[in-house]
Order: sequence, then structure tokens, then C-alpha cells
Amino acid sequence: MNIIDVIEKKKVNEELTEEEIKFFIDGYTSGEITDYQAAALIMAICINGMTEDEIVYLTDAMAKSGEMMDFSDISDKIVDKHSTGGVGDKVTLIAGPIIAALDIPVAKMSGRGLGITGGTIDKLESIPGFRTEIPVEEFKQNVKDIGICIAGQTANLAPADKKIYALRDTIGCTNSTPLIASSIMSKKFASGANAIVLDVTCGSGAFMPDKKSAVRLAKLMSLIGKLRDRETVCLITNMEEPLGKAVGNSLEVIEVIEALKGNMPLDLKEVIVNVCIQMMVLSGKYPDVFKCNEKIEEVLKNGKAFEKFRQMVERQGGDVSYIDNTEKFEKAPIITPVIADKAGYVETLNAYEIGKASVNLGAGRLKKENTIDHRVGITFEKKIGDKVEVGDILAYVHASSPEKSLECVEEVKNAYTFGPNKVEKKNILDIITND
Ligand code: URA
Repeated sequence: MNIIDVIEKKKVNEELTEEEIKFFIDGYTSGEITDYQAAALIMAICINGMTEDEIVYLTDAMAKSGEMMDFSDISDKIVDKHSTGGVGDKVTLIAGPIIAALDIPVAKMSGRGLGITGGTIDKLESIPGFRTEIPVEEFKQNVKDIGICIAGQTANLAPADKKIYALRDTIGCTNSTPLIASSIMSKKFASGANAIVLDVTCGSGAFMPDKKSAVRLAKLMSLIGKLRDRETVCLITNMEEPLGKAVGNSLEVIEVIEALKGNMPLDLKEVIVNVCIQMMVLSGKYPDVFKCNEKIEEVLKNGKAFEKFRQMVERQGGDVSYIDNTEKFEKAPIITPVIADKAGYVETLNAYEIGKASVNLGAGRLKKENTIDHRVGITFEKKIGDKVEVGDILAYVHASSPEKSLECVEEVKNAYTFGPNKVEKKNILDIITND
């Protein structure tokens, strides 16, 4: 087989066979196929799309390009959750301990933030000492002993996806539904999940700008799951404005700790409860949807969810005194209120603009090699639907310098729009299943 023939075929929009796709993935992973050849093929895929068969073959090949994790010795049903990314998205850090407190094992490999979206691993690393790079055996042992481990992806998990994802970023091919669907599902297959809850975000702060494109992605991922015997549920969630009240790494961890003590803003709570319910039902341990809510409330009220998080932090080397007393987290040196100069109801709080502003502060990274400042970020006093008078505090900017603070205050102010009437925001826009 010859890669040039494969590229030529896709260029004229002919369907690739399983062998041709596997040939490309194996060759690119090993380095025999060059970046420019891969770029040509990926661009042809991006322009012409893929058939369902091609997408499933690509998912399989990428999943099998490295280590396939196996947790069957821990549980015969490993339920995983994945978000397509967003601004202020700390769902894994809250849902994970809740689910573990309900005796469902949580073996979660998470990523770092890139661009405007934050990453669970960066957030966890704001806890001094917390180790996110964990050998597979220790990862498994933690899940066995305490029911939860959240760590970074092992280097050898779906390495083909890692290479292709990085390449797509440099050739204007991130925005392709078949490539996003196969990228996400390949990692879920490789990380040993046999049931999957996908939080498909949509809106200004997400990959998918609107509900229609989010539903298309969700249906495609559900189909891949179905064809490979993984029960899959997709929640379409609203990412028009940041989720919850904090954006920025340690600021979000503090919000997580408060949430696990039962203090959650309503938008965050709605997403958490829905993600948890789907995970509970898929686990087979809690088949009655109507009882799930009660169980979630129980572990929040009796402290078991918080205790699980604390146990995980301790097990992974983190300093639990920060969890017990969040005042210990180092604060940004300059904390500035953003004051409203208009009155009305908040109509929009643009998540993309907020994500960009927080990256400019240093809370995120534009390139993989950038380092991040865990202290900085933005906390919100007013969100969509809230009434605002002139002079009210809309948000606080937590910055490392006066210059950065000034710039960010303007950016945050510009991310708000106001109107005369209260806007109702729906947080869960749809649920797509593959049964
Ligand atoms: N997340 C992924 O893992 N892959 C994509 O392509 C997009 C979002």
C-alpha cells in the first residue's frame, strides 16, 4: 500500500477501506508517514468528511495505536465521562468524587487546557504536591483502594490521536465533526471505558458553536459507541457563558471544594446532577433515575463526596491542609472589581471572551509549552439573568500585575451585554442516547 494512493483517493472523495485507514494510522504513529503527508490526508478528510464506516475504522485504529487499558479486574462496568471542553468547566472534579462516594469506580484520565478551554489536570496541579503523572499500576491501585483516581493521560494512550490532534491544530483542521468524534471516542476506548457519558458543550466557549452542530457531534459519538458496544449518553450543555462562578485554576478548585460541601451555583449544579445521574444509571447500580437525585444530595450532605475528594488529594500526594482551609491557596497579588456602568438584566456573558481574557491573565495556555499561573482568573458576581444597577460589582479580576488587571477588567466588562428583560438560560439543552 502507498500513502500517496490513499491521499489521492480521499482527495476525490472516495471511501477509504479499514486497511487503508489502519495503514495511515500505523505509518503516521511510527513516523514512516510524514507530517506533510498526514496533513494532506487530514485536510482532504476535513473538506470531504467521512462515512460512518470510515469514522469507526479511524476510531478503532487510533485507540489501538497504543496501550489499551483494562480495568476488568476492578469492575465489569467502568463508566467514564468526558467533556468536549469549556470555560469554567470543573464538572469532572465534582462529579468524580460524588460518583466514587456512591461506590462506582472512577478511573479518569483527563487533559490539560489548550486555547480558551481549561483542563482538569492544570486545575488539580494548583494543589501543592498533587501528582497527576501516575504509573498505570499505581493508577489502578488507587481506584481499587479508594475508588477514584484522576490523572493525566499516559504517554502511550492513543498516541496516534495525540499526533493528529497536534497536527490539526497547526493546519486549521480542529473543526471537523468526524475528526473530533473519532478523537474523543478513541481515547475513551483506549482508557478502558465500557459505558460513556459525554458532556457535549455548545456555545461561544465551546468547540461546537450552536446546538445543531453539538447534536450532530453527539449523534456521531453515540453511533460510534453503539457500533462498538459501548453504551453512550450525550448531554448537550450550554457553554454560552462560563460554568459556575470561577474561571482560573486554584479559583476553580476552591469552587469545587465549596460545591462538594453542597454550595453550588444553579447552572453548575444542574450539569453536575445530570452528569451524575447518567453515570449512575449506566453503572447499573442505580437503575431508578428518580432515586439518583436523592442519593447525590445524600453524599453531598453527609460529607462523603467531600471526603472522597480529600482522600484522592491525599493519595495523590496533595497537601490536604489546602482542602481543609482554602484560604491557604496563594492569592493573585491584584484583585480588582469590575464595576457595571450600565443597568439592566445580564443578557450575555460571552464565554469565549472570558476564556480569552483568562488566558491573557496567564490562567491558560495558547501553546502546549506555555506555563500557567495557578493564582489568576476571574470570579463572577453577576451572570445571565441577574439584575444589575450602575455601580454594582459584576466580577473580580485576579491578576499578577496592574497592567494585566487593567486590560482584563476592560475585557470582562465588554463580555457582558444587558437588556430590559430577565433572560432564562437553559443549561441542559438535550440528551442523546444510543439505546
Ligand atoms: N477533544 C478531543 O479530545 N479531541 C478533539 O478533536 C476535540 C476535543
